[in-house]
Amino acid sequence: MEFRDLKQQYQNLKPDIDEAIKKVMEKANFISGSEVKELERQLAEYVGVKHCITCGNGTDALQLALMAWGVGPGDAVFVPDFTFFASAEVVAAVGATPVFVDILEDTFNISPESLEDAARNVVAEGKLKLKAVIAVDLFGLPADYAKIRKVASNYNMLILEDGAQGFGGAIGGRKACSFGDIGTTSFFPAKPLGCYGDGGAIFTDNDDWAGLIRSLCIHGKGEDKYDNIRIGMNSRLDTLQAAILRVKLKAFREYELDAVNQAAQIYTEMLCGLDCRRPLVADTFFSSWAQYTIILKNENSRNELQCELKRKQIPSMIYYKRGMNKQEIFRNKKVYTTLSITQKLCENVLSVPIHPYITLEEQNKVVSVIKATLG
Ligand SMILES: *Cc1c(COP(=O)(O)O)cnc(C)c1O
Repeated sequence: MEFRDLKQQYQNLKPDIDEAIKKVMEKANFISGSEVKELERQLAEYVGVKHCITCGNGTDALQLALMAWGVGPGDAVFVPDFTFFASAEVVAAVGATPVFVDILEDTFNISPESLEDAARNVVAEGKLKLKAVIAVDLFGLPADYAKIRKVASNYNMLILEDGAQGFGGAIGGRKACSFGDIGTTSFFPAKPLGCYGDGGAIFTDNDDWAGLIRSLCIHGKGEDKYDNIRIGMNSRLDTLQAAILRVKLKAFREYELDAVNQAAQIYTEMLCGLDCRRPLVADTFFSSWAQYTIILKNENSRNELQCELKRKQIPSMIYYKRGMNKQEIFRNKKVYTTLSITQKLCENVLSVPIHPYITLEEQNKVVSVIKATLG
């Protein structure tokens, strides 16, 4: 069994993907061009924002957004403690200070109360300028932007939506990556919409930021790439990846997103009544199920279940083993609010196989091991 079955996906999409790759090879145009332009147009339309700028990966996408906002030394950027390292790494990379915020136990996403608490304490200390919040759409589920926006507005902060895991999610009629002042995503192969290498994208309605980011991701270009007016980076989506993504986006829209939601619903029904908590998706929220993560009653129970799954050759992952504040490099960062929910979940969570091509037999097998282990 695969944790995320990219081989099966390729078998299903093979004719179209092979054709798309062949076309790029024959044209021998490997950087930019019409494939990238057309993909950006389709992505912007799907997400419902004015601008989409593709780039090298989801980490660069976040960093480019912070660079466009001029975030740097002396600035505080609030980041959930429970996320992939990149969400906090980019803050430190531009010289700013990441301030870690706790999450909500039932959604795994940033807690608006903890954000408020941390912001108040940073203001009271008077050392850092409050600049932005990076809200992460963890495991496919959008964060609670109505509440986050309230806190962010109170403290005059911008919202950067890290939608690396959240592409395809929604709240009401609005799609993920459109909730932040800038939204970003990743096309790393295992993400909800993945390519066959690294890739990322930035979304915004703001013309000035879009223009800046287009410049920043191509060596700070002015009129062209040999006219350099600022320090940027080299971060572009390859034409091959764009061609592959166009095929994958079509499948994603037409059936993959529905299929993965069906699989999630099946788990949620089958796991009912067992001694574990299932992921909660509140009314009007829609997840793209980057992960299906359950919460066991304690660390022993979690570790025992992972061992049993492994014995039956079923892959499972611990996302995440430690909070950002427990990462070696951030060990000495000042903490401005309690991070106890993150601490607890790091001990108790387990992510099980989920993807659009998982079969009912596979899901039955996963659930039977969970049932047998939890008793
Ligand atoms: C994967 C991921 C990233 C980084 O994306 P890359 O394309 O791997 O650079 C950033 N944030 C989160 C939450 C992620 O899961």
